[in-house]
Amino acid sequence: MIKFGRTMPVHAMLAILGLAATSVNALAADASENESVLDEIRQHCDGIAIWWTGHNGWLIKSDGLLLGTDLVLDDRGRESASPISAAELADELDISFITHGHGDHFNAPTSRVLAEKSKCLFVLPQNCLEKARDFGIPEDRIVVARPRQPIEVRGIKVDALRAIHGNRKGAVYWEANFDDCGYVFHLGGKSIMQPGDSVLLEDHLFVKHVDVLFISPTEHNMQIDDSITLINELEPKYIFPQHRDTYTVTPSNRFWTSAYTYDVQRRLSKDLQNRYHIVDMGRRFGIAP
Ligand SMILES: [Zn+2]
Repeated sequence: MIKFGRTMPVHAMLAILGLAATSVNALAADASENESVLDEIRQHCDGIAIWWTGHNGWLIKSDGLLLGTDLVLDDRGRESASPISAAELADELDISFITHGHGDHFNAPTSRVLAEKSKCLFVLPQNCLEKARDFGIPEDRIVVARPRQPIEVRGIKVDALRAIHGNRKGAVYWEANFDDCGYVFHLGGKSIMQPGDSVLLEDHLFVKHVDVLFISPTEHNMQIDDSITLINELEPKYIFPQHRDTYTVTPSNRFWTSAYTYDVQRRLSKDLQNRYHIVDMGRRFGIAP
């Protein structure tokens, strides 16, 4: 089911947009690096390629369609700049998927730039609507996703997953809710799963056939054991750890900034270790047909 809202006049948020523009300039990485990622995206026209832009921010291009998940390209809080800025991406991006409203997933400066400079659709949970309006996203570019309900967006089928947010010590978050989402994208003959932020649920274990799995082995997500349980259950062809190595780790934030990336890897079977890829930001990764 696709939900399109009515058209809303674009807010005249000049002050905010001005701030966003400054932040783009301040955070833009080395120009040649930017060109290469952007060039790679533009040149890719056959099959599926992915690029990690930090945290849960993935760019996935299948044939001519480019989608992003939880892009935090222009976030000032990042330790290292994104390999591509929101302004650079704006013309290329078709769909921006958001899993939940936290700033390291539904990022204000990134989304404001994409709202202004891009024509991309935003697919997001119901509880993100207020933020979406605040970020200046026109209502006719918003598609609301509801957990356990399939949608079709710009020709691709997407299963919206339930996501229940965790917190310190692996406990379910005080503000956990039934609006947050994960997604399974069906494109180019492959299934690509972005669980968002969630503790392990049967919803994840029951997903049939996953080719590509993004996994978050952090204290506030699936930690080590549950990450391994999910990987063993789904046996994806490609496994990419995320929610890592993007924000400066401190004692008070390590439950979400730091992931048990290598602990999970070490405890997988040899076969699954070969499918587990700890990728560098901005490095193109081709998914075999
Ligand atoms: Zn998160």
